[in-house]
Amino acid sequence: MDKRDFAERQRYLININTISTQQLFTDTVIIGAGIAGLRAAIEAASNRNVIVLCKGSLRDSNTWLAQGGIASVLCKEDSFESHIEDTLKAGCGICDEKVVSLVVQQAPELIQQLLEWGINFDMESGDIATTLEGGHCHPRIAHAHGDETGRVIAQGLINKVKENPKIKIFQNFYTLDLLTGEDGSECLGIIGFDKRGLQIIWAANTILAAGGTGRLYRETTNPEVATADGLAMGYRAGAVLADMEFMQFHPTTLYIAGASRALITETLRGEGAKLLDDTGYQFMKDYHQDAELAPRDIVSRAILSQMLKNKTTHVYLDVRHFDKQKFTKRFPHIAELCESFDIDVSRELIPVRPSAHYMVGGVKTDQSAKTNIANLYACGEVAATGLHGANRLGSNSLIEGLVFGRIAGSQAAGSSEAASAHISHPAIEFQIPQSDRTRLDTKDITNSLRALMWRNVGIIRKERPLLEAQEIINFWRRYVMDKTFDNQQGWECQNMLTVAGLMAYAAKQRKESRGVHFRSDYPETITNFEKHIEISRPKMEK
Ligand SMILES: Cc1cc2nc3c(=O)[nH]c(=O)nc-3n(C[C@H](O)[C@H](O)[C@H](O)COP(=O)(O)OP(=O)(O)OC[C@H]3O[C@@H](n4cnc5c(N)ncnc54)[C@H](O)[C@@H]3O)c2cc1C
Repeated sequence: MDKRDFAERQRYLININTISTQQLFTDTVIIGAGIAGLRAAIEAASNRNVIVLCKGSLRDSNTWLAQGGIASVLCKEDSFESHIEDTLKAGCGICDEKVVSLVVQQAPELIQQLLEWGINFDMESGDIATTLEGGHCHPRIAHAHGDETGRVIAQGLINKVKENPKIKIFQNFYTLDLLTGEDGSECLGIIGFDKRGLQIIWAANTILAAGGTGRLYRETTNPEVATADGLAMGYRAGAVLADMEFMQFHPTTLYIAGASRALITETLRGEGAKLLDDTGYQFMKDYHQDAELAPRDIVSRAILSQMLKNKTTHVYLDVRHFDKQKFTKRFPHIAELCESFDIDVSRELIPVRPSAHYMVGGVKTDQSAKTNIANLYACGEVAATGLHGANRLGSNSLIEGLVFGRIAGSQAAGSSEAASAHISHPAIEFQIPQSDRTRLDTKDITNSLRALMWRNVGIIRKERPLLEAQEIINFWRRYVMDKTFDNQQGWECQNMLTVAGLMAYAAKQRKESRGVHFRSDYPETITNFEKHIEISRPKMEK
């Protein structure tokens, strides 16, 4: 078979021989220990045994870093209709209205449940305190320990999971691929790698909750684990991916050379922070009537335009008018971060610029978190449920993870075939033709890919750079994908190249601007594109 053809159609990342590999059996295996995976585990364990896998420690997730909060209708002045309307508006015509309504309506109950499980949200006069964020018409963002909402929720869920004897957690376990049966229509479990070597986990149900893709970009708010493994393994297994062109960029991440791109929550703008350019001009009102409270895609593009106009590398957030004590209490994480770089927020401005933040697209699911592969569910950032349409409304992703985590878990627990006794475990053999190429520096390829994605598949897109990105990625794929690596860096590089190619492809296909996808050569939104771009792997020829 032609090498280029193989790269496109490759089913597994490594050689597989199930008979000679260590094997475990369980009812449900969950890939990912963020909000979606943990919530799914709690539900699935209501009557099944569960194994949760995470590739780093339990702290290494997007969930852990979430700051602003979690969206839900929590006060009587607010309504489901209003939350639905705001979500649909942000999604620019391609949200699945049934899914929006489902998530919005289940949100309050699930937040209440978190409270009952001992997760302490910030309170005000006996009720959960709520704040405003860009794109929301009402204050409906619940937060915990100020701007440490993700950490507090994750820690609470981890505690709950740890006290459940039906759930086992494998940390530092790198999942390589989903195993499927002969015709690819059914998921049978996973193959992965940890300090004991290669492991196969056969499971009656598999839940993909492996998070996002931020690390595909040079500038990102995402932690090192967000290398798109879940999307890549889903794609190889034959899952349908949707909306891959929609990458959300966060407008305000700290811009200090040498420092990580720490996010400065938009709640800050919700509570009155101003965006200034290098001349001190408050420019947002030139770009949108809602100024600093405009949806984040608009703020990201406005900042980029202002940076280009003024030939600067960043703009500034101004919180000098905030009460310093209140600021430190309300935003302890940001206060500490700024202090660590000697920025006195009561006197000085905070340098910021946009970064890749949230993957709107993912493995396509229905309202039951089912994918097109039997016994494979997806939830959280890795999934495309239809909630976000072309743009995610701030704070709607934690709640999506909670709602769809519960749904996926309850599906896995529910069916009569959900127990491991029903698992089929055929002998699977897969051989990758030996590559004759010399050793590769996968770190160099990964860094070059991240720079390419930032330049060519970034906040503002155009036909020629998108085509160029596709050509370069295809060229890299030809000599990276035919190698069999024995280390995480190599596998991550292969996954990132796979998913980057799909993102560039989808972005080129969508010849219009909608939500977070902005094409300078097609700046209008076009009715013909009121649809989803779906991609799946061409079948491997025998
Ligand atoms: C800085 C930051 C701030 C944010 N703030 C907010 C906010 O305020 N409100 C909001 O709603 N959203 C926010 N988001 C988005 C939100 O945090 C995420 O969308 C959400 O937490 C995703 O949850 P998840 O469970 O799907 O994935 P994650 O929390 O990212 O978890 C993914 C899990 O998958 C595991 N994994 C990945 N690959 C593999 C593999 N190959 N093998 C084994 N395990 C694997 C990881 O180890 C991890 O445990 C923020 C995101 C960031 C980065």
